[in-house]
Amino acid sequence: MIHIQKTSPPSEFINFIRKTPQIHFEDIPSDIKEILRKSLLKEQGYLCAYCMSRIDNDHSTTKIEHYRARNNNNELEYSNLLAVCTGNSFSKIDDSYKHQHCDTMKGEKLLNIDPQNAEHIAMIAYKTDGTIFSKTNPQFNDDFNKILNLNDENGYLKINRKIALQKLQEKIHNDFKDKTAKVNYLKKALKFYSNLHDGRREAYCGILLHYIEKKLKTWGS
Ligand SMILES: [Zn+2]
Repeated sequence: MIHIQKTSPPSEFINFIRKTPQIHFEDIPSDIKEILRKSLLKEQGYLCAYCMSRIDNDHSTTKIEHYRARNNNNELEYSNLLAVCTGNSFSKIDDSYKHQHCDTMKGEKLLNIDPQNAEHIAMIAYKTDGTIFSKTNPQFNDDFNKILNLNDENGYLKINRKIALQKLQEKIHNDFKDKTAKVNYLKKALKFYSNLHDGRREAYCGILLHYIEKKLKTWGS
């Protein structure tokens, strides 16, 4: 999970709500929803708000999620909307629904962790096997393991995070010259994975940033 900084809602959405304030979220016309989805994707660097997998501007990979369960008061609040992956929802068709994740698994449940809260995100750590966890907040671990199912041993998220980390470790190993170069290199890498490239963040960049920050601390940069 990475920090999401919300921007202003798209003007088309604001104007639409002004004209139709009583409308329910599901009744918003598809062209306005399309604008909304694009705006959310842009502020999230085209990554799922919960699992950091790549999502794109189409229905097959992306859903608009209400962070706090939807009700008549908050369903049109832009600050409550996130773009998320489909959470392995196809697994409903067999008996492996337990491998669902993100919003598909979460449903109406409330999360303790908020991707819009930078302090929450700073409490996240990762193991080299790809596990996402928090050393300091047990409630966040419940969010990761029980509500969002981000550490499913038989799912693809944990292994994908592990592979992303291994690729980075290999790259660092190949590019390494001496310790000084390595510190500068890591600072550059930290910048690279913190930023957008062609409007996109690197998939699973949270685990990469955590690894780089840990290395930099060890070497007393
Ligand atoms: Zn996801």
